[in-house]
Amino acid sequence: MAKIFCVANQKGGVGKTTTTVNLAAGLAKLEQRVLLIDLDPQGNATMGAGINKARLTASVYEVLLGMADIATARQRSETGHFDVLPANRELAGAEVEMVELENRDKRLRDAIAAVDKDYDFVLIDCPPALSMLTLNGLCAAHGVIIPMQCEYYALEGLSDLANTIKKVSASLNPDLKIVGLLRVMFDPRMTLSQQVSDQLEQHFGDKVFRTVIPRNVRLAEAPSYGMPGVVFDPSSKGAQAYIAFGAEMVERIKKLDK
Ligand code: ADP
Ligand code: MG
Repeated sequence: MAKIFCVANQKGGVGKTTTTVNLAAGLAKLEQRVLLIDLDPQGNATMGAGINKARLTASVYEVLLGMADIATARQRSETGHFDVLPANRELAGAEVEMVELENRDKRLRDAIAAVDKDYDFVLIDCPPALSMLTLNGLCAAHGVIIPMQCEYYALEGLSDLANTIKKVSASLNPDLKIVGLLRVMFDPRMTLSQQVSDQLEQHFGDKVFRTVIPRNVRLAEAPSYGMPGVVFDPSSKGAQAYIAFGAEMVERIKKLDK
């Protein structure tokens, strides 16, 4: 059975998409079978995996509305060596159109169930909001990965996300847990980065991933080549960190069952 993870944080620009795409590619390098689901109408994860969002025949939008299944809508990321359920702007309309539907918060979960056996990991890139789309991600997942920048305001908003996760696990998806907080865009030259990072460890203990993702320009350049950073420049510090994070996730899922 696939392990399903949401990469979520209701703030924008905190590294969700970079984390989803590079973790997918990192896991693929470790011979894991991965499906990346793009749940953000911006379609950044789709593009970052080398798939043109302007030329989709089917996407996560059709899947959520029951007009296609994942087996027909998925595409292969030739650069990343994983499958992608792509998204584009059309998805923004799903929010409203789903209101009418039955089981509207569990549509993604039900769609994944049909392809579950094809994968070791399903990674869901969430939009920057606690919306119906994010709720669909949370209802489908076993765990949440929360990328955070080590800055002064990092913890602001974390309690809203934690409360949402608590509510979802109490009423809709008892499986759901926070797997961990991932420190991203880390700059060791900044004293504040180091201080916030230490505070996170003190506060959240082993809910903080060991791996720290540094700020690295190669990770930011890669999407314009339609490649995950892990593939674009495998020896860069950013790529190495995401590959290490992939190994940490493989280790963590073994413990998750216990
Ligand atoms: P989100 O999906 O949360 O909105 P993104 O992953 O799109 O965030 O990241 C926001 C911006 O920061 C993007 O331009 C991305 O290329 C850049 N970025 C993300 N992680 C890193 C990193 N570790 N080093 C350098 N730039 C990064
Ligand atoms: Mg994003």
